[in-house]
Amino acid sequence: MMKFEVFPLNEGYYTIGFDKVFHAFDIEKDILEERSRGSLLVEIQPFLVRTANDNILFDTGLGFFNDNRQLVIEENLAKHNISPNDITKVVMSHLHKDHAGGLSYVDEYDERHETFPNATYYIGEDEYNYALEQGEPSYELGDLELLVRSARVEWLAAKGELLDFISYEQDGGHCPHHTSFLLSGDDGHYFFGGDNVPQLKQLKVRYMAKYDFDGRRSAELREEYGQKGRQGNWTFMFYHDVSIPLSKLA
Ligand SMILES: [Zn+2]
Repeated sequence: MMKFEVFPLNEGYYTIGFDKVFHAFDIEKDILEERSRGSLLVEIQPFLVRTANDNILFDTGLGFFNDNRQLVIEENLAKHNISPNDITKVVMSHLHKDHAGGLSYVDEYDERHETFPNATYYIGEDEYNYALEQGEPSYELGDLELLVRSARVEWLAAKGELLDFISYEQDGGHCPHHTSFLLSGDDGHYFFGGDNVPQLKQLKVRYMAKYDFDGRRSAELREEYGQKGRQGNWTFMFYHDVSIPLSKLA
């Protein structure tokens, strides 16, 4: 059996308006109503999974810099005594820019670099092709072009296994080729459902969201994963929930 530990990497709160641009939001000081019309509050949180051999990242965050011109993800990884160079695997649920923005960054000379130069990337091939076709504003092509040049991409099929302890399935819903992951180890099961299961509260109420590509499918998936999670005592990993990063369903 595999032994691993899961750590949330909290990037904080942002608002996103109709223009799909993310702006940092200080929940102590800022006022949502003062943001552009239709702005939504969004929390961002990739996960670090550590095994004896690997530091694995599940989605990569926004790729923003902090006030010291350090990448937020670098600041967060430093709290676990590792750097972006120590990330050996990057696993992607999908490639919307709030999940894939951290794949690369642009330096002060306007040159783009991979954030995790030693990592192998695990990305759905269908999602990649769809992202290239769609482009802005939901996808950031600069991040994606760099991946292909890196030649360290392992393309994910519709369904399969990775690294002996992770099973995955392309489940659609939030976007046509979204993928969810189940990690199985000594301490039970962890489920990373990306944007089909973004927050704990959304597992408790049935709803359909306008921001999902197929809202009905997404709602059905939440129901299904909720049921399986209850039966299998899964710990859910919530990418858009910084106050409850990890939770089982009672
Ligand atoms: Zn998202």
